[in-house]
Parts: sequence; structure tokens; C-alpha cells
Amino acid sequence: MAIATINPTTGVVEQEFTPHTDAEVEAIVAGTFAANAVLAKTTFEQRAEWMRAAADLLDAELETVAALASTEMGKTLDTAKYEVAKSARGMRWYADHAAEYLADEHPVEAGDVGASSVGLRYQPLGTVLAVMPWNYPFWQVIRFAAPALMAGNTGLLKHASSVPQCAIYLGELFARGGFPKEAFQTLLIEGGRVAPLLDDPRVRAVTLTGSVGAGASVAAAAGRNIKKSVLELGGADVFVVMPSADIAAAATAGVNARVQNSGQSCIAAKRYYVHTDVYDDFAERFVAGMAAQRPGDPFGSETDFGPLATEQGRIDAHELVEDAVAKGATLLAGGVVPDGPGWFYPATVLADVTPEMRIFREECFGPVATIFRVDGVEDAIARSNDSDFGLSSSVWTNDDDEAERFQDGIEAGGVFVNGLTASFPQLPFGGIKQSGYGRELSALGIREFTNIKTVWRK
Ligand code: NAP
Repeated sequence: MAIATINPTTGVVEQEFTPHTDAEVEAIVAGTFAANAVLAKTTFEQRAEWMRAAADLLDAELETVAALASTEMGKTLDTAKYEVAKSARGMRWYADHAAEYLADEHPVEAGDVGASSVGLRYQPLGTVLAVMPWNYPFWQVIRFAAPALMAGNTGLLKHASSVPQCAIYLGELFARGGFPKEAFQTLLIEGGRVAPLLDDPRVRAVTLTGSVGAGASVAAAAGRNIKKSVLELGGADVFVVMPSADIAAAATAGVNARVQNSGQSCIAAKRYYVHTDVYDDFAERFVAGMAAQRPGDPFGSETDFGPLATEQGRIDAHELVEDAVAKGATLLAGGVVPDGPGWFYPATVLADVTPEMRIFREECFGPVATIFRVDGVEDAIARSNDSDFGLSSSVWTNDDDEAERFQDGIEAGGVFVNGLTASFPQLPFGGIKQSGYGRELSALGIREFTNIKTVWRK
């Protein structure tokens, strides 16, 4: 894939970038590796000061930085601004909390294990490679970079080839805040050049957010080198609506859950399971809400959501819709590729979806919802769990017992009741099954790339 800014609103190639040569990659890896020794001599307080300075820069540059995301991947300017501001908050969160998250621990009495002193220490692993997607081009990177740098690691960013200007900005941000110049750098390389980097002993671990295929390839390379990996992959999250829910609120949230980021969010709701008693009421409101959504120019004030980020992304989403319709699914809204420039796709709803249709099992990375009837809690849980993915889920009910059964029974990295699935720096984020392994954010996220060292003294 060429490394280029191709504006998804117009389809115009705005800027092409020459990938780094092997010699340039070597210089960047060597520099980042060397920066580990410099970071090792810094304190949490020093790194926090640099991190806050970098967050201040991001805030000060919010308008131009957000416009970069809208231009390169098509999200609306308002949502891009929200993402940039959230990224700055995430940086400050780790500046404020890293020392507490990584403080020495004394989990048992020393005498219980025959020692005079015993404890745990969290120490950095060294250089961590981050392979990142374009859909949240700032937040996805920051939620790796802020904890990794605060823990004392260094970072190499291999961002998606479709967001090179975002990648270059992020590759310079931390040094501008005061971190050693080479502690966090961007590699302008295509996905096919990632796996060999894991054969390099200077790269100690890898985190990837992206598709199952890319995750499997990177995990295999990490595995043969016995290196730590964290994977945040796709999702086919459910949105369950039960009779006790506020149906109007659920329908409004359901629309947002599916069209956010033009449907290109790993934690966007994709499968809607609605109790048969409230199905007609919910479906009517939900379909009307989806049909009323206005795709358009990300910079326009009337736009609900922008184009899909890539031409291939639109082809892939529409193929899933066409396959379902050809096999008997009912189109309740959308489903038609609009004329004109740009990779727009309407908010789409499919009913009567059956297991032989690809969309029943595959993740659709566009604003396409599938809606089903369920007849109770157990049915909804069983069908939620009948998926290769297990990222998150959203359940709408005002019955406490039901809420508890869903939170216990759904196989996913998260169950949100009466609210949209979201990520917070304070809470762990990640999945199970083909949605990946490991956790980002919170104390658990910063500990992923540390050596948890047991120190025991007689
Ligand atoms: P993708 O093709 O997997 O790309 C993601 C990143 O992986 C890009 O930097 C890409 O580089 C790189 N890559 C691609 N193939 C690779 C390979 N064989 N080896 C190493 N790196 C490789 O993903 P996408 O389709 O653009 O993004 C959407 C996917 O990401 C969806 O499945 C979505 O659910 C998932 N996602 C998950 C989360 C989460 O937190 N769980 C968050 C966001 C997105 P190039 O651009 O150079 O190809």
C-alpha cells in the first residue's frame, strides 16, 4: 500500500511520501534503542513534565491537528477535535498516575516466603514497536505511547500508510515536549516490512491494533522471537435491547453506536439483538434514525458522518451488504453506493440476516447494522456469544437482575449497560477470542510492557 494522503472526501491524492529506506530504518531503530539508556536515568517526575508539555502542544495545535485527521481519513472535524482533546487528556492521565501504577509492591509478608524482604518492581522492557490503524489516528497511538514512555520504554510507531501526516506529527510530538529526541519515532514503512523488525533483538515487544490478519502475522513474528505482544483486533459488538429499557434513548444511542466514525470503530455496535416485545417499537425508531443520518463533507457543519476512509473499505462494506441481500436479507435503510466523488456510504440496516450470509460472522467496518429478534436474556447472551469476536458490548435494560446476568454472561472484554461502549484512560480496554489479547489503558495497560520483577532477599 502506498504511503500517501488520499483525501477520502474527494478521492484526490494530496501528497505521497517516500517510504524510509532500509538504511533509514536502521538509523531510526538504532537511535530509539540508544535512547533507552537515556530514559533509564530519568524519573517519573521528569517524564511527567515532558508528557504534560507534549499534551499542552497537542491542545494548542488542536485545530490544525484535527484537520489532518479529517483530511487523511475523513472523520468529521468535530469528532477529530474531540479525539485530539481526549488524547491530550490521556497523556496527562498517565503523567499523573504512572508513578502510582508502577510503584513497588509488597504483596506478602517476607517471612511467609522465607525472606527478610520481598517485593515486586515494574521495570521498562526497552523499545516497543506499535503498529497502529488509521481509524482513530491520534487516540490509538497515544493510548500506547503515553503509558509506554511514562514507564520508561521507548517507542517506534509504524502507523497506517493512509495517515502519514498524522504519523509524522506524532513522531515529533514527544521530542518537542522534551523527551530525548529519539525516544519515540515514526517509521514510514508499509505493513509488509513490520515482521522482520521483530527479528531485531533491539525491538523487545510489539503492540498492534488492526485487523485479525495483520494481528496474526505480527503475533507469529513475535512468537518465533519469544517477544511479548498485545493485540487489539476487530469486533462484532452486540447492542441488546430489553423490554424494560428506555426504547427511545436506546434507539438514539443505537444510531450513534453504529455510525460513529462512519461505522469504522472496533467497538461500534454491529449486531442488534432486540427483545421481540419491543422489536417493532425499537426497529421503527432505529431505522428512521439511521435513514435520517447525513453523510457529507467532514468539514461541513451539517454533516453527521464523513466518507469511509479508503476506497477498499467501501468496496468491502458494500460487498457484505450485497452478499446478504442476494441471499435474502431485507434492506431497511441505505445499502446503495451514492454517485459522485469520495467514498461515501449511507447508514444501512439489514434484517432477516442468516448464518450463511458473510455479514453474520464477518466484521463490517462501515455504517451497516444487522438487527435480530431475541426472546429473552438467555437467548440474547447465547447469540451474542455465537461470534468469533469478543471485544465489547452494550446492553439496554432497567432490570438489575438482567443487567447482572448480561455482565456476567457475555463473552467480551467489556459489557456496558445503558450506555455506549467507550474507552477511558481509567479503565482497561481489550478483547478476547479473535478480538485479541492483553489490555490497554488503566494500570493494566502500563504494566503490559514492563518486566514484573520479583525481588527477594534472605
Ligand atoms: P489493518 O489493515 O490491519 O491495518 C492496521 C495496521 O496494521 C496498519 O498500520 C497496517 O499497515 C498494518 N498492517 C497491515 N497488514 C500487516 C501485516 N501483514 N503485518 C504487519 N502490519 C500490517 O487494519 P485496517 O483494516 O486498516 O483497520 C481496521 C481494523 O482494525 C478493523 O478490524 C478494526 O476492528 C481494527 N481495530 C481494532 C481496534 C481495537 O482496539 N481492538 C481499534 C481500531 C481498529 P498498512 O497501512 O501499511 O497496511
